[in-house]
Amino acid sequence: MSASVAPRLPSIDGLLRHPACLPLAERYGRESLLASLRQLLDELRSSVLSGQLSAVEISPDVLAGRVGERLAQQQRSNVRRVFNLTGTVLHTNLGRALLPEEAIEAVQMAARYPLNLEFDLASGKRGDRDDLIEGLIRELTGAEAVTVVNNNAAAVLLTLNSLGARKEGIISRGELIEIGGAFRIPDIMARAGVRLHEVGTTNRTHARDYEAAISPRSGLIMRVHASNYSIEGFTARVPTADLAELAHRHGLPLLEDLGSGSLLDLTRWGLPAEPTVRQALLDGADIVTFSGDKLLGGPQAGLIVGRKELIAKIKKNPLKRALRVDKLTLAALEAVLGLYRDPDRLAERLPSLRLLTRPQADILAQACRLQPAMADVLGEPWQVSAVQALGMIGSGSQPVARLPSAALCLRPQVSKRLRGRSLLNLEAALRALPIPVLGRIDDDALWLDLRQLDDEPAWLAQLPQLQVES
Ligand SMILES: *Cc1c(COP(=O)(O)O)cnc(C)c1O
Repeated sequence: MSASVAPRLPSIDGLLRHPACLPLAERYGRESLLASLRQLLDELRSSVLSGQLSAVEISPDVLAGRVGERLAQQQRSNVRRVFNLTGTVLHTNLGRALLPEEAIEAVQMAARYPLNLEFDLASGKRGDRDDLIEGLIRELTGAEAVTVVNNNAAAVLLTLNSLGARKEGIISRGELIEIGGAFRIPDIMARAGVRLHEVGTTNRTHARDYEAAISPRSGLIMRVHASNYSIEGFTARVPTADLAELAHRHGLPLLEDLGSGSLLDLTRWGLPAEPTVRQALLDGADIVTFSGDKLLGGPQAGLIVGRKELIAKIKKNPLKRALRVDKLTLAALEAVLGLYRDPDRLAERLPSLRLLTRPQADILAQACRLQPAMADVLGEPWQVSAVQALGMIGSGSQPVARLPSAALCLRPQVSKRLRGRSLLNLEAALRALPIPVLGRIDDDALWLDLRQLDDEPAWLAQLPQLQVES
């Protein structure tokens, strides 16, 4: 027989009335507190029975402290702001484009009040949500009509299904792309009910290849912008204008999936040339699809623009209802499109363009300014330098083009064998900050590309909390 008596767990009722728990009930609600207490006591019961825990470890104060931590953890939102210092501006995993203030205000208004989402205020009759942005899109792209869906993948799916179901879709082998997140053109075509008819080769496709594929079974010709890779060397591609002429000669529509697409020629800001929606339409594409949150700089959306009768057909497809955008998206999109009316001030007002066009000298000056604070926090084991770096636009825009940028380069001063571990530890410590900081590991160093570091005070303020495991 054991002589010592194991300490006993306090009762739930006793804990609920204990002064250490009262503020928790106040803050998180009695129900949540009760559930957390029950869970904790259940977890501890067997250890208590076998005498593994001391009286202090199960005292009401200690238990209240543990439950308080759990409740705080639960209450923290899963959606967290981060610092994107990866060097990729339109980062799909980090939410792509940041909205301008004008769009944020529009979203707030749309969230807070009833609005004319599908209501024509002039006639008092039922309206169409696409009408809210149709005028702007026509003005900015020259398109006859527009319809908006949830993202560009949905735009491609809906367009293919509406115009090519049970028929053949002709596309060059060099354009059968896969973009991240399981979006592959052949799969989307199959799901859309369009039979894939691939022509040409990976690197070279000629007009005669398309021509030879056309038959009574053909439903459309599709062209896809090679977003996330580049084919170089011995290549041939039929210009859109020639492909449109060929398609129209055979009574087929030409679809062009621009992916990112751009409403304006980006070279005016010194950025790499990206095809514009207006040019694709001028070249004769009948329908053009593109994303709202890539180079456009707006909310997640898929825009389908082009010939009026084709858009009407697309809008009649029941799938349109399943893929439609919500009011918050439309409010943001209208506000962003509105900014394009004044291209001279666009780079000041549209965050994605402002960040993409930030001069390297400016970013490097920021890196030099922040270097001492970073070096101070990391101390001896790290070499911290302010250096030039190369970033990218991201989201499949210009996969090979690099944006001249600048970074804090953090290099562990340890033997080669330990370097990988050190870098991963630092990466984890940066992620554990109140506003997680995300960089990239490359060439035995952790790089914090500062192109997107807007909120320098917030970044600096949390730096002393960095705790790197050695
Ligand atoms: C990004 C992209 C898509 C998908 O667009 P989402 O808006 O991400 O759905 C489709 N096609 C191309 C060519 C793209 O680059």
